[in-house]
Amino acid sequence: MDSVLVMIDHPDRPRQDPAEALRPEDAADPQVLVNDLGITRGDGIFEVAGSVDGRVHALQAHLDRFARSARLMDLPAPDQPVYRAAVHTALGRLAARLPGRELSCKFIMTRGLEYPPGAHGPTGWAVAMIAPDYRPQRRAGIVVVTLDRGVRRDVMQTSPWLLAGAKSLSYAVNRSVVREAVRRGADDTLLVSSDGYVLEGPSASFLALIDGEVVTPPASDGVLPGTTQADAFAWFAQQGIPTRVRSIDCEELAGVRSAWLTSSTRLAAPIRELDGRPLDFDPDLTARLNEHLLGRDG
Ligand code: PLP
Repeated sequence: MDSVLVMIDHPDRPRQDPAEALRPEDAADPQVLVNDLGITRGDGIFEVAGSVDGRVHALQAHLDRFARSARLMDLPAPDQPVYRAAVHTALGRLAARLPGRELSCKFIMTRGLEYPPGAHGPTGWAVAMIAPDYRPQRRAGIVVVTLDRGVRRDVMQTSPWLLAGAKSLSYAVNRSVVREAVRRGADDTLLVSSDGYVLEGPSASFLALIDGEVVTPPASDGVLPGTTQADAFAWFAQQGIPTRVRSIDCEELAGVRSAWLTSSTRLAAPIRELDGRPLDFDPDLTARLNEHLLGRDG
């Protein structure tokens, strides 16, 4: 089997030992009920962390964002030690069989069962699997087109119920924009706001080199705060390359020379073409950034 599943029991009262909440199961067997709100409504949250040899990249940042998504969606606070233990258990077991392989672990918490309402707590699990091979994208770059997300960049402030910036299970739109990108001959999408600001990819943060600074939009513009982006910014700063979190007007895209999409399993994919315009990319800089991102532990 190329995956390892750990189901999570959510008790009413806190436990001394997080391991008591973990139930390793066979990922090939049915585990989730058909009336689980995660399935019937996409009502839940998730995270995906990358890993090599049992080192989990940015795990605390993922757990913190998981808690943030839960708050944005009025879900109970996930028990961090339990989810941490589940991720380590699932990835540790798979890594023992696949040393040196790039793995990922998706962890999920749903609102629980649709009926009888409120009868059960959340449903949770962590599943470790082999990560897709993104090495060609990291080396050769990707072709990206901009698509309108159809909301203004202040949507989090005006309409928090739309859950911008929450990593919810409702990712059908995030998948459909990739299919649209492929129809347009591209690999991926850069989503922009209806009032003309750059946002993010459907599963990645956008980083651009503008006037000598690496820039990314702030979470307050309705994007997911990227764990990989944060670690990439720390690395750029160590290299003496200035970084800035600020809104990016779409008109600035015409002046962007280099840009990346970053995410937990893909790491940093340089954009070689944006809306039909070739961009420069520095293969050595990107390779060193990815080497750093692959080595993270924590
Ligand atoms: N933005 C969106 C919408 C995402 O789904 C993701 C990751 O899946 C990211 C950004 C990048 O986040 P991270 O670097 O933590 O994977």
